[in-house]
Amino acid sequence: MQDNQELLNGIKELMHNTVYETLDAEAYGEICRKVNVSKMYYDIALDNPERYRDQTNGKLIIADEMRADKIILYDNGEETGLTLTYPYYYGDIEYVHAFIEFPKGVSKEDLDLEVYQMMADLIYVIVSRKNMRQMLDFAEISDPMTGIPNVVYIKRRYAEIIKEIPAEEVSVLFINLRNFKYINEVAGSKAGDEAMVSIAKKLLSLVDVRYEACCRLGGDNFVMLIRSERMEELSAQLRNLKISDLESAPNQVFKIACWVGVSDGKTGKNGVSDGKTGKNRVSITDRLNEAAAACNIGKGNLKKDIVYYDGELVRMMGDNRKIVAIFKPAVKNQEFIPYFQAKVDMTSGELVGFEALCRWIHKGEFIYPDRFIPVLDKEGLIHELDMAIFSATCKSIRSWKDMGYKPPRVSSNFSRKNLYVPDIEEKMISVIREHGLETSDVEVEITESVREADYERLIEFVGTLKKYGVHISIDDFGTGYSSLSLIHNIDADAIKIDKSFVDEVISEGKARILIESIISIANRLKMSVIAEGVETADQGRTLIGFGCNYAQGYYYSKPVDFETATGIVANPSFEPIGMAAFGDS
Ligand code: C2E
Ligand code: MG
Ligand code: MG
Repeated sequence: MQDNQELLNGIKELMHNTVYETLDAEAYGEICRKVNVSKMYYDIALDNPERYRDQTNGKLIIADEMRADKIILYDNGEETGLTLTYPYYYGDIEYVHAFIEFPKGVSKEDLDLEVYQMMADLIYVIVSRKNMRQMLDFAEISDPMTGIPNVVYIKRRYAEIIKEIPAEEVSVLFINLRNFKYINEVAGSKAGDEAMVSIAKKLLSLVDVRYEACCRLGGDNFVMLIRSERMEELSAQLRNLKISDLESAPNQVFKIACWVGVSDGKTGKNGVSDGKTGKNRVSITDRLNEAAAACNIGKGNLKKDIVYYDGELVRMMGDNRKIVAIFKPAVKNQEFIPYFQAKVDMTSGELVGFEALCRWIHKGEFIYPDRFIPVLDKEGLIHELDMAIFSATCKSIRSWKDMGYKPPRVSSNFSRKNLYVPDIEEKMISVIREHGLETSDVEVEITESVREADYERLIEFVGTLKKYGVHISIDDFGTGYSSLSLIHNIDADAIKIDKSFVDEVISEGKARILIESIISIANRLKMSVIAEGVETADQGRTLIGFGCNYAQGYYYSKPVDFETATGIVANPSFEPIGMAAFGDS
């Protein structure tokens, strides 16, 4: 049996040194010699090595003295015999084995096993401390959900990269995934999580880690640092991003579309070259802001997938700010007015309704909705606009009635943002009542919802308004993702087929088949269907042939002002589209 006192002294020393962290190979050696140990090491029993892998360089993040997964603390190089093994567990995971090996000839009976158990425990403490510190370092620079780097890392990397490459040759990309929620919706949130990891790794794989980097900012936003000369190549890759073989959605391929904003390093803070280079270039924070701003404009105003932060963009941002600044006074000044576009029964030529479309007349200048609606929507101001147009529309209907006409039902557009305005339904009803109208005099157009969260609320909103007797139509039908389940779950009166389908109705393509099927389903569900953007008689005839009799489009009338619309109300008929001529022209 061993001399216990000597062993315990050895252990004490080990403990002491562990606490003060003065242990090095030599210190281990001294102790091991004292306790007759030839080799001492631990082996991270990696059931899941990815947990310990630095995704940026593929290295395991455990100490450098590692050989494979073993970390040798001491090895006197002599042949060993008996090995004692001590496993440890973290939850259910067998996490680390301490190994103590003895010179040949030593047997268990010669040893005080309790002492070695203590020694193994100490090794465990040392390993844990070391791991934990490395994990913390890793956590500081990595995104916990996907394991790829985070923004802290990107900022550090930027500083390193611009020491090697001029800052103006490094492009900073802000990437927002376009319809990521779609994956959650169609494949479930588990697949969504998995997809996020898969997309993150995919994006990371596109960068050359020597001079480039990629990180997840959080949510569905990513940042990339790319050498500007590679932008063309990378743009093509981003436009063709696909993920597949998710465990929870096997055999499915998801095409991932993104909105990308680029600060290409050639433009300064104001979007024009500031002549500064290298260290004097705007900071990474500024460049991230530039890229994010470009991404936002691409998503909002421009509907363009890759947008550069340049002089034009800066002007546009200025205009957006101006829109926001002058919006409220403009509402007060009644600068927003509804124009009315006729909805017509193509078979009889009868006027069946109007859609109120907003126009902004500012200092005599005409501004179209595409310029300001996305800005107001984003800035949380759209509700005010929608209510102003809705009121003005009710006022117009009132006037037509007061003139002795029987105006058709008039629809107004309501942004989905209105779904979250408290008591919106009651507010709308009081506007109708204030003008002495019936709820059946108006109609509400709302676009398809993409977000699952919106969906429940949309069902409720439509249900409440319907109870009051307000008609509802689903605008831009076919452009969202939930089209079919939407008409199944939502009790709308009508669907409006988006112009993009109508444009293709006379060509022999998929759109034609889709539109025919949509009309047939809607008819069977007793919903009415109206085609938007009908511009030719041919389109009209084809639509009638498919069972859609209602249309709205330039073929009949552009959106017109109150006076012109009054003329249409006074004489509410257009030329019917004769079916006899079907296929003739
Ligand atoms: P929308 O509700 O789908 O309205 C139809 C748009 O298509 C209108 O554009 C209309 O002028 C246009 N249009 C109709 N027929 C034709 C055609 O035959 N050919 C072509 N090329 N275009 C046609 P507009 O008035 O520029 O409005 C654009 C969008 O702005 C609207 O699309 C709607 O989403 C939104 N919007 C307009 N007014 C309001 C409003 O008061 N509130 C809200 N939230 N959105 C509004
Ligand atoms: Mg509409
Ligand atoms: Mg529409």
